[in-house]
Amino acid sequence: MFDVQSIRSDFPILSESMNGQPLAYLDNAATSQKPQVVIDAVAKYYQSENANIHRGVFSLSEAATARYEATRSSVASFISAQRTEEVIFTKGVTESINLIAHGFAQSILKAGDEILISGMEHHANIVPWQIACERTGAVLKVIPVLDDGSLDMDAYKNLLSERTKIVSIVHISNSLGTINPIPTLIKQAHSIGVPVLIDGAQSAPHAPVNVQDLDCDFFVFSGHKLFAPTGVGVLYGKEEWLERLPPYQSGGDMIEMVDFEGTTFKGIPGKFEAGTPNIAGVIGLAEAIHYLRGIDFSETSVYEKELLSRATEALGSIDGLRIVGTAPDKASIVSFVFEGVHAHDIGTFLDAGGIAVRTGHHCTMPLLKRFGLAATTRASFAFYNTLEEVDRLAENLRKMKAFFQ
Ligand code: PMP
Repeated sequence: MFDVQSIRSDFPILSESMNGQPLAYLDNAATSQKPQVVIDAVAKYYQSENANIHRGVFSLSEAATARYEATRSSVASFISAQRTEEVIFTKGVTESINLIAHGFAQSILKAGDEILISGMEHHANIVPWQIACERTGAVLKVIPVLDDGSLDMDAYKNLLSERTKIVSIVHISNSLGTINPIPTLIKQAHSIGVPVLIDGAQSAPHAPVNVQDLDCDFFVFSGHKLFAPTGVGVLYGKEEWLERLPPYQSGGDMIEMVDFEGTTFKGIPGKFEAGTPNIAGVIGLAEAIHYLRGIDFSETSVYEKELLSRATEALGSIDGLRIVGTAPDKASIVSFVFEGVHAHDIGTFLDAGGIAVRTGHHCTMPLLKRFGLAATTRASFAFYNTLEEVDRLAENLRKMKAFFQ
């Protein structure tokens, strides 16, 4: 039986208040809160374990290196990668996609090639590809989004062609909550030999990911949405792809041999990890994964569906409120607009009631434009949220309606 109160007691911030009210943290799509074990692991590293990795022969440095590399193995097993070397540490999804887009621009793309993304991408999966296109003369193609916020799969089939060099697509939309049919998208792309990158920023925290079952070529996620610290993330890539791509950044630690006449690089994963990485962040990520392994994802996903249906029902019954994104397959994210009230005013009103939600374009300006909007208010739930918090959100929105009328 899923015990939300026991889970909540693992996250110290959840018992804080905001503006004199108990904090209802409903901005998990932006970043999630951290369990005490993660906070402790980071503090302990700085208190008694801090040393640089891959360099020292002294015990402290060897221990830090061992923990850093052990995290690579736990990430590999968390996402069921075939090989540990297929896991690259980055700062997050943004850096992971930049790394891939840069590599494609450098080594693969030519004028007239096409890159296929969708109309619901985060800016992190749009802008790096636009820059890659500018550098190479490749063309960015966009799979349209239907009125309910799902992907136009017929259009996808028509857009895929031998000109397509990569499909780069979000697993779960951070703005609408739409869960895209990733296995189908990948099968169709692979049937004509096109690789697929999955932006798993919103999916990794909500469901088990098996990159071998998905057969994706790249999968990227950020630690800070997965109950781990900020500034650490993951790029998973199939070995043959990572071998083909050139280094992204260069300098210390990614080399085999440096001479003024030329330099040779390490193999994977080292060639993609230049400079001193976020060691404390990686250690915190290991602890977050360890914590998540103690939680039954099949129970949390049923529970998160319950939060979603309660929110959809409660918010949907408020006069003047319209939910944006009603695809049949959705994660626990509810975006909405309110007739006559600007999203920022909604956010400010809810803040006074201790409720933290996100307002604005959620780094998906083209998607909002497609719906004729500049901003929405978004409540996004994690497994530590409660049905009472959902009810408080609805109640405060009703109060707000009365206030603004
Ligand atoms: N893609 C999606 C779907 C996201 O939700 C986010 C974060 N909002 C990003 C990419 C970017 O992640 P980060 O800022 O951690 O690099």
